[in-house]
Order: sequence, then structure tokens, then C-alpha cells
Amino acid sequence: MSLPVSARFVVVGAGIHGLSTAYHLARELRLRGLGSGEDVLVLDKSHPGAGASGIACGVVRNNYFQPAMSELMQACVEVWESDPVAYHYNAVGYIALGANVQEPDLAETFERQERIGYRSELIVGADAVDDHMKAIFPDWRAQGVTVCLHEQQGGFAFNLDSVRGLVGKCESESVTILSGVEVLELEVGSDDSVHAVVTDRGRVEVGEQVVLAPGPWAKRFWSMLGLPATIDIHLPDGEVVRDRPMWTYWNLQEGEIRVDAALFATADGGAPPVVHLDTDAPLYTDDGRLVTDELWGIYYKRDRNGVQGGASPLTVSDDVVLDPYPQTTNVDDGFADMWCAGLSHAMSRFEGCRPAYETARSGGVGAFTADNFPVFDYVKPNAYGIFDSNHGYKMIGVGREVARVLAGDRSDLLYPFRFGRFESGDLHPVSHSPYPWS
Ligand SMILES: Cc1cc2nc3c(=O)[nH]c(=O)nc-3n(C[C@H](O)[C@H](O)[C@H](O)COP(=O)(O)OP(=O)(O)OC[C@H]3O[C@@H](n4cnc5c(N)ncnc54)[C@H](O)[C@@H]3O)c2cc1C
Repeated sequence: MSLPVSARFVVVGAGIHGLSTAYHLARELRLRGLGSGEDVLVLDKSHPGAGASGIACGVVRNNYFQPAMSELMQACVEVWESDPVAYHYNAVGYIALGANVQEPDLAETFERQERIGYRSELIVGADAVDDHMKAIFPDWRAQGVTVCLHEQQGGFAFNLDSVRGLVGKCESESVTILSGVEVLELEVGSDDSVHAVVTDRGRVEVGEQVVLAPGPWAKRFWSMLGLPATIDIHLPDGEVVRDRPMWTYWNLQEGEIRVDAALFATADGGAPPVVHLDTDAPLYTDDGRLVTDELWGIYYKRDRNGVQGGASPLTVSDDVVLDPYPQTTNVDDGFADMWCAGLSHAMSRFEGCRPAYETARSGGVGAFTADNFPVFDYVKPNAYGIFDSNHGYKMIGVGREVARVLAGDRSDLLYPFRFGRFESGDLHPVSHSPYPWS
């Protein structure tokens, strides 16, 4: 299909956010009698799911210490639950287990979940946690775990399948999605709004608004708009941190063991919840080598071909090469040993699983903002940016909120993620988790 010369709404990026926005916007326009999906054009330089959304482990959880993240996540889970078939969503739940130091954070998260009506359970104390886990997985044997937040909602979705589900929903609303169209420039007029997107296949005039949902390519779009590479961050106590880079990169380390998927089942043979284990118990490989005696963590879920998961990310240099995406070469050499040792530490069924580890198409780079939380905001008068700071496969509902904003409404859920928070000091609280995304 040829590139149209203009479109009322142009969405750049066909990942989870661009597609969810396009679908919900088309719906919103139709239901309000303001237009239809024919007014919405999605452009992707590769194809739907070519970016982070197509590589994500797919974990959907609400274990967020930050109130705004938690409330937004509840809305996102609502979207996942609205059509589990199309989104290939597995509502198996999610379990977060932590060491002593994480107890207050998880307790606070649980209390908020209770208040907002997100179904979960908190178990405190080493013995109680052990009992809870053994009832689900009789061979549970993790040490140093004193707190467990068991979310009955959430779980995981199959990454590329859910992207295809969104493509189907877009098509059902007559949205046009064009693959193989790379945006090279954004033409900004004297009124500071984006007049056109310039691509390698021609120029598209923007009738009303443009949505930028570029995933890890955020920095490129930030600089196309002439936005600052470094910013000052005003902390809530009045202190100012000067010249902080707006974008940094982390490499998300993930892998899988190829085993019969049925090996990872609950005591009654059911589908297991996603497990996230953090502990400060010393970690040894199955042949007795010490991996670490500091706080460590892994997460894992049942996949079609076995068990998939990851561990803490690694920082990568500023001049990271993103194309072709994903690049997994900078995963720590010791990752497979560590992750498999962690699996075996958690459950005896995984003892000796290291030879089953496979280098698969998993792991990749994420672009993080100056405070590691998303920026969802207008970055030009008619250009809305969805920069999720790598939080976001699970955030399928952000597109629904953005669609409402594009249609003229305000979103209380997105407001805490405005760019202006860096100047006003309305930052999100930071947890004790070793992960930059918790
Ligand atoms: C290894 C890994 C595991 C993860 N696991 C999870 C998880 O379990 N749960 C979770 O919630 N999140 C997870 N994340 C984070 C999550 O994947 C991302 O936050 C989310 O997918 C970003 O979605 P997006 O739509 O913004 O970007 P993307 O999915 O990256 O989509 C951006 C699209 O923009 C296109 N594009 C880029 N530049 C241009 C251009 N110039 N012109 C046209 N098109 C362009 C790309 O081709 C791409 O298709 C993980 C991330 C990684 C890397």
C-alpha cells in the first residue's frame, strides 16, 4: 500500500503502545461520532512487534511500590482481562517473594492493592511464606525469604501473539498499519507543532496529532524534536540534581531452559503463577560454586517450550547500537549460570537444569528516562509521547488512556507521568528493590 500524503492522526511505532493507542483511538472516534479508524495511520520502520514488545517476557504484574504505577497497572490489567483470547493473556497470577529489606515495600504495596480492589494476599514470616509456597509447589526450598505478595490477578501474555491480537483489533476498526516505513524527521512549524513526518518513503502531513511510541528508540525521537539531552531534576526536598542524562540504556537479561513445560506446574497439575524471587541467601550452582552472597533476584514463568525468565539488568553504554533489534550479545557471560542456579535454589525440580539452558531470542535493550519512570505527555502541542522507560509491555491500557487524551479528555492515571514532574519535584517514590523498574 502506498504512503498517504496526509493523515489526521499519525502513530509512529507498532509496538504494544502504538497499536493499543491506534485501536482505542479508532474506537473512541467511532463511539463519539468524531471519526473512525480510517483517520488513524500507524507507521513502523520494520513490522508490528519488531521492537521490545516482541521480545518481552510478557509478565503482567501490579507489584509496584509507586501509587501512580499501581493505579495505572490496575487499569492495564483490566484491558488484558477484557479479551484474554485476542491478547493471548494467561491469568495465572504473580508471586513476588522478598528478603527482609523488602518487607515494608511489599506490605505497603499490598495495602494499596487492597484499597484499590486489586486482588492479592500478603504472607509475612519465613515459615508462613514457606508453607504458602510449598502448598503450591511442594518442592519449594528457597531460603532467606520472609515476605510474599501473591497477586491473584496478572500473569503473562505471549508477546508476538498479543501484538498480532492488537493488529487484528486495529484492522477491525479500519486503522491502516504500514510496515517498512522509517520516520527520519519530524517537521516542526513556527507554531511549535509537528506539521509532517518525513519518512524514507515520502512525507505525511499531520492533520491533527502525532503519537510517538518508539520503545527503545526514544532518544532518537527526543532529539528529532530538539528536546534536551540532559535535564535538571528537582527533588521533593528542594535539592536540584543538574544535567542528568534524559536517556540511559539497560540490557534486560533473559533466557530459557528447554524442558517439558509440564515440569513447571502447580501441585494439582495446574498452570503456575509467574514467580519473582529476591533473596539475600547465598546462591550456589548445583556443583557447589558460590555465585553471590549479596541480594539477588530472578523471575520465571512457564513458556510453550519450557521455562523462561530473567534477572537484574545490566547498564549498557550511551552509544548503544539498537539496530538490528534485539541485540543479546551484551548479556553477562555468567547469566545462564546465575539464573539456572536461582531456579534450582527455588525448587528442587530444577536441580541440574543448567544443560537445558538455551540461547534463545530473548533479552534486549531498554531505554530508561532520567528517573526510570515513564513519560506520557505532550512533547509538542500536537505530539504525544509514549516513553515507557521499559516498564511497559504490561501497560496495554496506556493506549486506552492516551486515546481519551487525544480525544480531548484528561487522564488522571497519566497525569503523574507528565514531563513537568522533573521541574516541579513531583517524583515517584523509590523502592528497596534491586531492579530499576520497581
Ligand atoms: C528483554 C525484555 C524483556 C521485557 N519484559 C517485560 C515484561 O515481562 N513485562 C513488561 O511489562 N515489560 C517488559 N519489557 C518492557 C517492554 O517490552 C517495553 O516497555 C514495551 O514493549 C515497549 O513498547 P513500545 O510499544 O513502546 O515499543 P516497541 O515495542 O519497541 O515498539 C516500537 C516500534 O517503533 C518502531 N520504530 C522505531 N523507530 C522508528 C522509526 N524511526 N520509524 C518508524 N518506526 C520506528 C520499531 O520498529 C518498533 O516496532 C521487556 C523489555 C525487554 C527488552
